[in-house]
Amino acid sequence: MKNRFEKTVDNQRRYFNTGKSKELSFRKSNLKKLHSLIKNNEGLFYEAIYKDFKKSAYDTYLTELGIIYHEIKLAIKRLPQWTGRQKKNTGLINFPGRSYLVPEPLGTCLVIGAWNYPYQLSILPAVSAMAAGNTVIIKPSELAKNTSGIMAKTINSNFDPEFLHIIEGGVEETTALLKNKFDKIFYTGSSAVGKIIMKAASGHLTPVVLELGGKSPAIIMEDANIKMAAKRIVYGKFINAGQTCVAPDYILIKKETKERFIEEVKKQIIEVHGKNPIDSEAFARIITQKHFNRLTKLIDGSKVVAGGKYVEEDKFIAPTLLDNVGWDDAVMQQEIFGPILPIVEFDNLDDAISKVKERDKPLALYIFSKNTKDINKICKEISFGGGMINDTILHLANADLPFGGVGYSGMGNYHGKFGFDTFSHHKSLIYKTNLFEPFIKFPPYTKIKFKIAKLLMG
Ligand code: NAD
Repeated sequence: MKNRFEKTVDNQRRYFNTGKSKELSFRKSNLKKLHSLIKNNEGLFYEAIYKDFKKSAYDTYLTELGIIYHEIKLAIKRLPQWTGRQKKNTGLINFPGRSYLVPEPLGTCLVIGAWNYPYQLSILPAVSAMAAGNTVIIKPSELAKNTSGIMAKTINSNFDPEFLHIIEGGVEETTALLKNKFDKIFYTGSSAVGKIIMKAASGHLTPVVLELGGKSPAIIMEDANIKMAAKRIVYGKFINAGQTCVAPDYILIKKETKERFIEEVKKQIIEVHGKNPIDSEAFARIITQKHFNRLTKLIDGSKVVAGGKYVEEDKFIAPTLLDNVGWDDAVMQQEIFGPILPIVEFDNLDDAISKVKERDKPLALYIFSKNTKDINKICKEISFGGGMINDTILHLANADLPFGGVGYSGMGNYHGKFGFDTFSHHKSLIYKTNLFEPFIKFPPYTKIKFKIAKLLMG
């Protein structure tokens, strides 16, 4: 049965089969075009994101557009290296011969973006897919409708839809899109919807990358630099009003250190957002009423030690600290994804590690300590997507490191060369000479041939 987007997908596949998107010059010129399109429309991109959730131009540049520009420039610079074949060992069985790994694009890819970093999460995977020589359809999140609109307007009026196209919409449109056969689906969003995407993809045996979320802990040891920890946790937690997949979701801290930490966090919130964070130009709003309602229900008034205020008409929730939180509290049962930071005490590091391990593998984990033994112990015992020692969230800004989750926090990764690889197939090729053929390969199978084969193969 025909579906709504079949023609768009078919046209992209036909275009891919012409081989045009595979040419190195094509990849570079289209990446350059995308870069200058966004640059020339930067003002409109800032306006749109402010309308969606009052995110400042400064934060948008640092956490979205700047990262996109960097990724595009890196791809353009490194493409000759990335697209080249890699020489590999050949081994005795194929001697004499030469072995290579040759990257090739997969075909027509679908990128489904989330709303919290609407530009980065839609455009960055598309940059990797384009760099790898694919055609791409992007479906941004409908929850950030102004940013979705400006991306669609800018890209669709400047790119050939057979190569790069944005389809706007929500569940209905995504469901229709997923009926089509893609060569890769790259999804960013919740684990619940991740399951729907994977199920739909399995119908066509399409490989998926799932960039999901989860509860990412920040573990603060007694020897940590508490002032610096508070500064960096306030940054990572409250940027984008906590609507960041890798934001520290909760704090695990020793009792003796807790009071000092709380005082430093309170000071730091005032330092960066003032006494009235509602007036701070650097403090974003909650994306929808539904998320606002979900978050305000998580604020247990009896546990608030900072913030706790909210203004419904503005979808504003103040940076909020909750003390004496237990593992069974409501706030510990779901990813918070908002400006609420619960503090959970621990006495013994082994117990704290066990508690984290009883839950799904986190997307990120942060350790604040100077003690190498403790740091190594935590890193060795807990599986998580990626993380930082003595800082938060910025590991994702290093394009030389892959970004992705593990287990319930996701599968696959991207950024820099890792993104290129994610959207490529690495073809194995062995070139043989016609000089000679080892006689032991062929019957008759004599005892002496068997002995030689055993000697050669081990
Ligand atoms: P979401 O899963 O609700 O939506 C993401 C995308 O899925 C949207 O484009 C949406 O239109 C589509 N979608 C929603 N319901 C669908 C359905 N039933 N069928 C098909 N498509 C559907 O996620 P969200 O609420 O926008 O994002 C929040 C979650 O995403 C958090 O868990 C967060 O941690 C995670 N996240 C992860 C990363 C990462 O890089 N790992 C980045 C940002 C957000």
